[in-house]
Amino acid sequence: MKPQKSHPQLPSLGIAKCPTLGILLKLNLDFIKFKLDLYKFKFNFIKFKFDFIKSNFSFKNVCGFCMLMLALKVLCSSYTKPTTVPSSTDQEVLKEWRAATVVSDEAVKEFGIDSCFKAYPISDAIFSRMDGKSYKKNCTVPRSSLRYLRVLHRNVDGKTQLGEIVCNQAIANDLLEIFRELYKQGYKIERITLIDDYDADDERSMAANNTSCFNFRVVSGTTKLSNHAQGRAIDINPLYNPYIHLNNGKVEPANGKPYATNRTASRKIPVPFINTSDLCYRLFIQHGFRWGGAWRTVKDYQHFDK
Ligand SMILES: [Zn+2]
Repeated sequence: MKPQKSHPQLPSLGIAKCPTLGILLKLNLDFIKFKLDLYKFKFNFIKFKFDFIKSNFSFKNVCGFCMLMLALKVLCSSYTKPTTVPSSTDQEVLKEWRAATVVSDEAVKEFGIDSCFKAYPISDAIFSRMDGKSYKKNCTVPRSSLRYLRVLHRNVDGKTQLGEIVCNQAIANDLLEIFRELYKQGYKIERITLIDDYDADDERSMAANNTSCFNFRVVSGTTKLSNHAQGRAIDINPLYNPYIHLNNGKVEPANGKPYATNRTASRKIPVPFINTSDLCYRLFIQHGFRWGGAWRTVKDYQHFDK
């Protein structure tokens, strides 16, 4: 029988006499050796990479890299350019009189308050908006009898907003004075733009709570020409001050129904209710207008005419 060979690396441990344990320990040592070799290889690889970068780190390459970064930056900045274009200044908005736009009070001061409450003949640009809409083919009112008004008003947030009105020249000065006073006293009106922006559709304009004046049309539910057809009537904040047919209960605009009743001062709405203690009511009455809210067969709270 061949004598058992003890493990050469573990002569003094005495455990080498167990062949299984010896094999296991040898395997373990081999594995550790293999791992050490692996780390050595990894270290050499990193060293190689570092040497490679070092050898390529020349002035020429640095310049190339910087140029590449610069080109990327230019490319990115030109791509994002549309969002960085400055928006129109308030002065431009005022000069072009972009109705329904909010401007700062400082801009109004600089522009001049008198220039913000002014009447003009109907220009070709304005007439092109009205033609075939509020100024219908059968319109009997000469264009020369109408005026385009610039007015300011406080919107529902209390901010200064640009407004525009087409009216008969006969009431142009009244409207300028009334709207100037309403603005001065902070009276809130949601929107004042030409009804032509709603294709001269009264229901649509009222539903949007748009204040408007001239529209060559008949009185709702009749064949009689309205005072709006002459540009001698104006509807203020029509959504919250609707037109009510007392005979059938119909409310115009339809979405103004919740505001047809319970019209008390304590009720919170974004603009004032027009009633006999309302500033708007008082100013129009002072200027000789009639109020639709005082009529018997209908209640037209939004309406003043002269
Ligand atoms: Zn009206």
